[in-house]
Amino acid sequence: MRPAIITAVDSLLAYAQSKQQEIIALIRQMVECESPSDDAAAVGRFVDLLSDTVAPFASLKRRAGERFGPHLVAEFDLPGRKKSGQVLTLGHSDTVWALGTLKSMPFRESDGRLWGPGVLDMKSGLAFLIYAVHALRDLKVPVPSRVLLQVNSDEEVGSSSSRALTEENARRSKAVLVVEPGTGMEGKLKTARKGVGGMVVTVHGRAAHSGVDFGAGASAILEMARQLSRIAAFTNLKRGITVNPGVISGGTRSNVVAAEARVEVDLRVVKMKDAPSLERKFQALRPIDKRCRIEVSGGVNRPPMERSAGIVALYRTARRLAREIGMELEESLTGGGSDGNFTAAMGIPTLDGLGAVGEGAHAANESLLVDRMADRTALLARLLATL
Ligand SMILES: [Zn+2]
Repeated sequence: MRPAIITAVDSLLAYAQSKQQEIIALIRQMVECESPSDDAAAVGRFVDLLSDTVAPFASLKRRAGERFGPHLVAEFDLPGRKKSGQVLTLGHSDTVWALGTLKSMPFRESDGRLWGPGVLDMKSGLAFLIYAVHALRDLKVPVPSRVLLQVNSDEEVGSSSSRALTEENARRSKAVLVVEPGTGMEGKLKTARKGVGGMVVTVHGRAAHSGVDFGAGASAILEMARQLSRIAAFTNLKRGITVNPGVISGGTRSNVVAAEARVEVDLRVVKMKDAPSLERKFQALRPIDKRCRIEVSGGVNRPPMERSAGIVALYRTARRLAREIGMELEESLTGGGSDGNFTAAMGIPTLDGLGAVGEGAHAANESLLVDRMADRTALLARLLATL
């Protein structure tokens, strides 16, 4: 259900509403600074923009991101005595959109939405957080905890270079707030995320001329086709386990019995305890045609964010704070992973999906609802003032 018009019963909400045009201008700047994961220089430019934006009220650190752009950690200068530990806010600077996407998908505001590459996932979430900090500072609202923002440059490609830094900052935190977009057009928070993995299965057969020497060949493609129905049967929707053979290749010519075939399989699990048994099922694949050999690599690389008691408590706090400003929050389980998966797996209460409300992440209709910007910004500010 879309909420009715929000009335400014709260000074933080009123502040966010009064800054709406400024927030839109910042989002525009961010979207127009394209930052695909695989272009370290472009991501670096975006991180520069972000650094310049927060430098007047934050101390900054950068960590090299190996072959990716730099990761950024900002500690905000906020009112109040910091005696209640640390809260980590988490986001990413990279997008799935190639450089030049702006030509066909320019930033624009129309139909009550903002549009453009990365606008929802998740540049607006970063802008909301920055304005939540402005609100707390300008209204002199005391914030009990240190507040860090970590922005990773490789989230869309598995977070291999940022994971250790995320865990390092999470370890010292009592809560993690992830400003990824919410779920659906209601902007549900994410209190559980599936774990994500990838497997590559390669079948090695025996090549032969399909006309001259058919019997000497052992087709890797035929063997793979048989194995695929076994692999597909690993899906268990009741337990939230899905197995998707998403990319397949093999063979060289139609008149050659294929010597090799390969499949890339995406894995998702709701419970971490399901990961080892699923991986074992892949390892246990045996060829039906004994002349073929099967090779398996990979596994679950992003643990699931399981809905722990700590996550539920954090969600209930957010729901109460939202209700006080006239918003009804809901929670959701999503199949998509984020860096919140890592922090939740460490047992740190993690609340995800606190960013924008909209639809079309990673798709041409990527957009967010303008009339849900102020309440999300205010909710972030209220959470920081409370935790
Ligand atoms: Zn994202």
